[in-house]
Amino acid sequence: LNALSKRPLHFSTTLISRSASTLVLAEHENGSIKAQTVSAVVAAKSLSEDNSVSLLLAGSGQSLKDAAKHAASCHPSVSQVLVADSDKFKYPIAEPWAKLVQMIQQSGEYSHIVSASSSFGKNVLPRAAALLDVSPITDVIEISSSSQFVRPIYAGNALCTVRYTGANPCMLTIRSTSFPIPPSSADSKCNEAPISEVDLSTLDEDYLGKSRYVGHTSQDAERPDLGSARVVVTGGRGLKSAENFKMVEKLAEKLGAAVGATRAAVDAGFVPNDLQVGQTGKIVAPELYLAFGVSGAIQHIAGMRDSKVIVAVNRDADAPIFQVADYGLVGDLFEVIPELIEKIPEK
Ligand code: FAD
Repeated sequence: LNALSKRPLHFSTTLISRSASTLVLAEHENGSIKAQTVSAVVAAKSLSEDNSVSLLLAGSGQSLKDAAKHAASCHPSVSQVLVADSDKFKYPIAEPWAKLVQMIQQSGEYSHIVSASSSFGKNVLPRAAALLDVSPITDVIEISSSSQFVRPIYAGNALCTVRYTGANPCMLTIRSTSFPIPPSSADSKCNEAPISEVDLSTLDEDYLGKSRYVGHTSQDAERPDLGSARVVVTGGRGLKSAENFKMVEKLAEKLGAAVGATRAAVDAGFVPNDLQVGQTGKIVAPELYLAFGVSGAIQHIAGMRDSKVIVAVNRDADAPIFQVADYGLVGDLFEVIPELIEKIPEK
């Protein structure tokens, strides 16, 4: 991804027009559109006043049908839902998805193609951009105009304003935490956008390329999604073992929170790497972020600095995490966590 995003921007006479028409790549699971896709719609709408936003879904079976129905009314800005229904898209593999985007863009209809900066978006969008021979702009946190964007660099220590001067389509991945879904749009009853089937007859025969499906693991449905949870409880190397990390999970359960981890905790094998928060993990911005035994390395801070309230517990008073914490407690997590678990009432 980095290699692709660092490709020089193409200069071309085909500049982005004032009005925009945007294709948003939709992620869905169990018949519902994911919240980060709705954030991508929010971002797409801010590209221009009269932007028409189409959502592209791919998959097969009943779950796709249910997701398409949800997509049609998930946000008032969605003007059309395109559905690619085929066994070729049974699993969210990047190669066929990239070919699908290339096929759809052959008509040159879209000025912008947007996806969330999730594992899915980071996998699909740069591949599709390579097939379309344009340079993607990744991790956008602010849209100044239909061709000017702000993205973090140096692990979030600097912000870079990027002007896109390439040919259509301008392809973006957006940080969903920077494009929150306004509560009014989540609650409002909007008109259902029309749903149309995508004609797949011209899809490249070699749609799978060299990839092959091996397996799919889904996050524990009982727990909130780390990327969109209101409360996140994170454990670091200070937990010392996978066994001890269960304390963090127990506390998260009591708080109805998602569990996060530092890379050191992941590398030590305490938890799987999909829980990693940071520059090379998930970017989170919950209402409340609790960090236990986390030193506060810049690569970790890059993934959680936008949290509304940060609480840190560390036995080292000089730990850098205290520089970003709203509330800090210098103490031993092995005393603090059990006390919190004991004192917080059952939900
Ligand atoms: P440590 O730095 O070892 O800190 C452990 C802390 O626990 C210490 O501050 C210690 O005082 C405290 N502690 C120990 N025992 C107790 C106790 N009993 N009670 C209370 N406190 C205690 N890291 C990420 O997290 N996410 C990333 O995405 C990420 N990406 C990276 C990308 C690159 C290219 C590189 C080079 C590094 C990346 N890292 C990332 C790693 C990062 O630099 C740090 O090494 C890592 O965040 C440290 O994790 P930690 O805070 O758990 O461990």
